[in-house]
Amino acid sequence: MSIKYMLFNLLGKLNPRFLIFIEKQMKNIPGVSQKIEGEYAEVMVELEKSVKPYKNKYDSFTQIPAIGRDYADILRDMESMREQEESHWKDGFISGAVYHGDQRHIDFLNQVYAINSQSNPLHADVWPSANKFEAEIVAMTANMLGGAGQDVCGTLSSGGTESILLAMKTYRDWAREKKGITKPEMIVPVTAHAAFDKASQYFNIKTIHIPVDENFRADVNAAKKAITKNTIVMVGSAPSFPHGAIDPIVELSELAHQHGIGFHTDACLGGFVLPWAEKLGYPVPSFDFRLPGVTSMSADTHKYGYAAKGTSVVLYRGQELRHFQYYTSTEWPGGLYFSPTFAGSRPGALSAACWASLTSIGAQGYLSATKKILETASAIKQGVNEIPELRVLGDPLFVIAFASESLDIYKVLDTMSHKKWSLNGLHKPTCVHLCVTLRHTQPGVAERFLADLREAVAHVKAHPKEKGAMAPVYGMAATLPMRGMVSDLLKKYLDVIFKA
Ligand SMILES: *Cc1c(COP(=O)(O)O)cnc(C)c1O
Repeated sequence: MSIKYMLFNLLGKLNPRFLIFIEKQMKNIPGVSQKIEGEYAEVMVELEKSVKPYKNKYDSFTQIPAIGRDYADILRDMESMREQEESHWKDGFISGAVYHGDQRHIDFLNQVYAINSQSNPLHADVWPSANKFEAEIVAMTANMLGGAGQDVCGTLSSGGTESILLAMKTYRDWAREKKGITKPEMIVPVTAHAAFDKASQYFNIKTIHIPVDENFRADVNAAKKAITKNTIVMVGSAPSFPHGAIDPIVELSELAHQHGIGFHTDACLGGFVLPWAEKLGYPVPSFDFRLPGVTSMSADTHKYGYAAKGTSVVLYRGQELRHFQYYTSTEWPGGLYFSPTFAGSRPGALSAACWASLTSIGAQGYLSATKKILETASAIKQGVNEIPELRVLGDPLFVIAFASESLDIYKVLDTMSHKKWSLNGLHKPTCVHLCVTLRHTQPGVAERFLADLREAVAHVKAHPKEKGAMAPVYGMAATLPMRGMVSDLLKKYLDVIFKA
């Protein structure tokens, strides 16, 4: 059972009358908060059981063991856990998550990691190799994304979220120094990744959300109207995580350019797909540094760059902008200190593995991987559309979101999960998506997906009254009016995750 399911399950276990009770803003009445805690505690006990499947099955520790364990014992336990988890992602039952996953590639990356496991790019004098790898990853990515012959630079980060956080912090500091903006605002389509909202919270940047059209692409007119004297940056996705839609980056970046504000293309998901898709002749609208208004981009090497998890690239038009990302300290007794990103010490081995992924796969490898993924996605898209009860949202290349007018799509999701599939349940609007990776290009996987989906739809249609375990819960999580309470629950859920 997926973690998201458990979460929605948790919400569903709360008594609806209790929820309404909270909704009436009675939280501050004496006794109520104890009551809330009581309700939480009960469901948390259940949740804990379901997210801790290894409890009592393996040795567990809340203190460092007095005498160290044998290497062999540790390795045996880890192999055992891997065995239980592996087929789920390896056989292609999961949306996104593992983007390459072929054993030969994994073995190679592991070898590279082993060679570089002690490396730390913070110490450029000790590991110049790490700096070489990082500089070249950035250069290769910039060139791939239309930066050739232009002053495009950047840094490596730990993932898409960090790339986005860094870029937004950079614009905040840039706008404060260059334009005197002290109440910064960013214009962000509602479909942009949650990392932008995270940046807004972390760095005190006000988010102005703009809607998307019927094809899930950002509304350019709304973006135009949203610009104020405090706007520092506008954002577009290529493509968006929920529906795989590519925002009208040409128009949006031009608008930003005219107003002298930054424009960030979030190509975390598509950065290592769209350039190759374009070369393969797919209709890819412009999204990268070939557009003069695009001033920064994020592209995840740990997604379709096929590196190990833990790397992403953030790029800027011009060294000046990049300088606003850097941190320097001249007064610290620890000496002159400087770092390009949020972290201090960093895993040089992951940078090495990333470099090794890019250079071992090569343009030809990326082209053929992209071709396989897009062909598989196209077959899946067509197969979904051929199911009369379902409808693909927009016209995506490789993230296939689908909805239903006649069926509860969450019940379909439910039924699919009984067939081992971990799809993403989305809301606003209610739909489900599959992000197609190389895992799904293995022989028979797409066919199995479509066959299972047809069966799931037929099942839900034949049993309209059947209460799926999760379906009502999904629906409720999407429509629950008390967002503060949903948020509280998510925090409690994280507490459970970190409970030893
Ligand atoms: C995955 C993703 C991100 C964030 O990436 P993480 O690596 O999970 O931090 C940002 N934007 C889009 C469109 C993504 O798909």
